[in-house]
Amino acid sequence: MRRPLVRDDLKSMEGYHSPQVDVEVRLNTNEAPFPPPDEFQEAFLNEVTKVDWNRYPDRLAQSLREDLAALHQVQPEQVFVANGSNEVLQTICLTFGGHGRTALTFEPTYAMYGQIARTTQCRVAEVQRDEAFKVSIDVLERGIETEKPDLMFLCSPNNPTGTPESSAVIEAALGLSSAAVVVDEAYGQFADFTALDMFGSHDASDSLIVTRTFSKTWSMAGVRLGYCIAPPWMLDEFQKVVLPYHLDSVKQIAGQVALRFQDQMEKRVTQIADERKRVSESLTLMELDVWPSQANFILFRTTPCDLSGNEVWKRLLDRSVLVRNCSGWPGLEDCLRVTLGTEQENTIFLEALQEALQ
Ligand SMILES: *Cc1c(COP(=O)(O)O)cnc(C)c1O
Repeated sequence: MRRPLVRDDLKSMEGYHSPQVDVEVRLNTNEAPFPPPDEFQEAFLNEVTKVDWNRYPDRLAQSLREDLAALHQVQPEQVFVANGSNEVLQTICLTFGGHGRTALTFEPTYAMYGQIARTTQCRVAEVQRDEAFKVSIDVLERGIETEKPDLMFLCSPNNPTGTPESSAVIEAALGLSSAAVVVDEAYGQFADFTALDMFGSHDASDSLIVTRTFSKTWSMAGVRLGYCIAPPWMLDEFQKVVLPYHLDSVKQIAGQVALRFQDQMEKRVTQIADERKRVSESLTLMELDVWPSQANFILFRTTPCDLSGNEVWKRLLDRSVLVRNCSGWPGLEDCLRVTLGTEQENTIFLEALQEALQ
């Protein structure tokens, strides 16, 4: 039997790869190591009994968007919610990308920008960050001038390097081009900087989009909920490309209930930031190359210890510790990225690493 032909441009593409292996200590996908508080479960189950199962969900997720708007002191018309920030990114690519258009990325960065943009048949232009993995104004200017992007992705703090962005770079991006400027703040609460302030402080640009997710700081990766803050005019456009009723009723409730426990979320963030300091110091003492991180993960290079990244990654796996192997990514040769887990998990990781480096 003959198979139907897959789109030509899909042939050279690969799907998302992050091994889901059964190990004791899983520090490879930047999830929160703790579940939401017990009170969340109780409140959520209570609210779920009110769902009209036979009815479609509120298509605009009005209540959830109002709560998010209050959280960030913006208007509900500036909030768009979707199934994880990946669906937000896809919606942005469907709106501003597509055939004949260009998306600009600053490498190394989150691989899904390029991946999602390409699935909309958008051309992807990559420019390199500097040695410290920063986007310099110079790099930004050159990228904009040569590639003439229709949209660009700045990740703050950047995955997988942990580097935060600055308002100078974002203002330059907004000033130098008419592209949609996406600032992905999946790890925003772990950092000193947020581009969200730029919506309030001055006449917010017509092209700034800041994305956030419940997957990391809110301990809700299993729920698949994300959102962005954007100028109100974009929301009408997003509604044209997103599927009707894409956000189910149960998820809308989960998001609203989660927001009631903001204090606990912030406590978890502080706890992880403390661990980040401890683990980062230990890695430095092991004489690895360690990049300063403002996220819930740390990037390090193994070569100062005369071992390849692949080898160290395997030795860790032998000890039932899974981290992200970034060794094969351009610009990240021999680099591993470890997600910060609980204090106990981090200690097990550090001990396993110490052994692996012998
Ligand atoms: C984890 C992550 C996301 C989150 O994606 P979700 O679809 O919300 O789970 C988005 N951007 C970056 C850079 C990430 O690391």
